[in-house]
Amino acid sequence: MTQKTVSNSALSKDIVSKDIAPKESGPISSELLAEALKATVDGIVISEVTGDHCRIIFANPAFETLTGYTADEVIGKDYWFYIEGSEEQAEIAVLREAVVNQESCRVTILNHKKTGEPFWSELSISPVFSDSGQLTHYIAVQKDVTQRVEKERSIQERHESLLSLKDELQELASRDSLTGLHNRRYFEEELSRLWAVHQRLEATMAVVFIDIDSFKLYNDHYGHLEGDKALKAVADKISESFSRKADLVARFGGEEFVVVATLENGVDCFLDHLERLRQSIIDLKIENKHSTVSPYITISTGVCYGVPPKGASSSLFTRDADVAMYQAKKTGRNRIEVVSYEPDEKVILKPAS
Ligand code: GH3
Ligand code: MG
Ligand code: MG
Repeated sequence: MTQKTVSNSALSKDIVSKDIAPKESGPISSELLAEALKATVDGIVISEVTGDHCRIIFANPAFETLTGYTADEVIGKDYWFYIEGSEEQAEIAVLREAVVNQESCRVTILNHKKTGEPFWSELSISPVFSDSGQLTHYIAVQKDVTQRVEKERSIQERHESLLSLKDELQELASRDSLTGLHNRRYFEEELSRLWAVHQRLEATMAVVFIDIDSFKLYNDHYGHLEGDKALKAVADKISESFSRKADLVARFGGEEFVVVATLENGVDCFLDHLERLRQSIIDLKIENKHSTVSPYITISTGVCYGVPPKGASSSLFTRDADVAMYQAKKTGRNRIEVVSYEPDEKVILKPAS
């Protein structure tokens, strides 16, 4: 194919593809083809490739309507002028790669009209080769798909907001409304996951049961609303004390809390930490007049720790931490009792201090 500049009014005969004419009815005239290009509702631009340049030689009326540029304004310009300002879009890279590989491609990009008004354009480019295989032209066909893209975007946005609503609802459903801590259901789900991880890694973990002492007497004396406040204050202290990302703190029910933690720094360090928590609850100085243990609200703590034994259920440490907590109640309240699953220690209740 010889290369020749064509104008809008008269498409060069040379641009006419030799093969598209049906054999029976004879070749399509260049005038007919020019009329067809003029009449088509999609914007069409033909560019001529010379060296590194891709100069526009034809633009149809639909392109003019679509972009606001007249054919005369764009003919002679490099096709990329039209893409200017859109380079940061990922689809432009797809377009450039197709050009480098001399392949056709279809992209949806945000273009701008001559007035600067943005619009979404579905753009298909196709290379045209000479008989000798030389790239000579590009045909670019584009249509305004703004409505479609905006519709897709609003569906996508709705979908995303529904997903985030679902996340919020899930988060809400996993929380206890009074204390803001995770609830028992969430605790049980998370515990199985943490149990399996520690079992696989043979890492030492601890389950801690915490129960407020003589809380019925507190409610009876100060009223349920004051009871709620005290519960929240204790919950806040526990959660402050176990604020690492890997720590799990939950309200197990009533005035009972549960903590799951990895023993990264050994058991002594962990028990010291629990001892500081026990003291910090007393330091809240929430008066509990009828407590038999202290003038203030106190907690009893049961701990079970070790590497989760192979084949054991995830409820094992919870059960034993509960047993340890009741032992703390029996032995005087406001104290910590421990069950160890360390291999060199017998599974016994062992006072922490
Ligand atoms: P112990 O030292 O043996 O644990 O005695 P206790 O009185 O704390 O234990 P008991 O199980 O007899 O009573 C627990 C009380 O916790 C009963 C209930 O009034 C109170 N309680 C449970 N949930 C809530 C709550 O959400 N708000 C308030 N205010 N009180 C609660
Ligand atoms: Mg209690
Ligand atoms: Mg209780």
